[in-house]
Amino acid sequence: MELLKPNDLFRLTSGDTITKRNLYDLIQFSKVSISQYWAGADFIIGNTPQQGINWMGTLPLLKAVIIKTKAGSYKEDGWYDDNRTIYNYSFKAKDGIISYDEKANSVLINQPQLLYPILLFTESKEGWVFEGQFSVTNLEDTYVVLKRNSTSIIESQSSFDESPSKDSEKMYVNHLKAERSKSVLLALKDSNIFLCEICNIDYMDKYNIPYIEAHFKNRIIGDPADQLISLNDHALLCPNCHKAVHVVMKSKDLDYHQIKSNLILNYNRE
Ligand SMILES: [Zn+2]
Ligand SMILES: [Zn+2]
Repeated sequence: MELLKPNDLFRLTSGDTITKRNLYDLIQFSKVSISQYWAGADFIIGNTPQQGINWMGTLPLLKAVIIKTKAGSYKEDGWYDDNRTIYNYSFKAKDGIISYDEKANSVLINQPQLLYPILLFTESKEGWVFEGQFSVTNLEDTYVVLKRNSTSIIESQSSFDESPSKDSEKMYVNHLKAERSKSVLLALKDSNIFLCEICNIDYMDKYNIPYIEAHFKNRIIGDPADQLISLNDHALLCPNCHKAVHVVMKSKDLDYHQIKSNLILNYNRE
């Protein structure tokens, strides 16, 4: 299989092999507007091709993270199980010190919240073998645990990637911007409410940790930077429920109140 444009990465199926030259050139020349690999600024693949980790697009809306790895090259790196569903992947370290702010590490740390696929390649004699799309399920001190995405998630993510409706992508970025706006984060800090409105877990009561996340409830029209956004526009959620809301949001066109009542119904069933 030959990759001609960055988007071709989403057409790979597990077991496909691509040559090292091909992946190197794709990463290198995705940045060069006169190159045949160029597919626009949104598809630039960050980091140099020599590095083990690259990313397509810019945070917060990455389209994908690309990992090229050889089991055993770092202490933790390698398959955890015989079925090849779990792969442990080490954070990048300089002289034994890990900086979690470094791009190569922060694209892994942010994945559970932002939900872009991780495309995992392992080395073989013929080149890079595509193992499939993965997600981060655990953050350890020195490595992350990557788990193979279930088929349904691969389908929903790849259909999202193959027909990247500009509008829905933009809306999602603006949604994340609204949730991270400075005024909201400051208001959140002072609110002293740590109760999730979906599952009713109170972080302070349960863990003795003053923590809560803000989910922007409204549909966003235009850039949130140009608008007055207050804490009243947000729902207060625990990280678990917040993630569930985002997963549903990305696959179904429902508003927050519909998502909330569906999740509460399911939560109370247990
Ligand atoms: Zn919750
Ligand atoms: Zn949210």
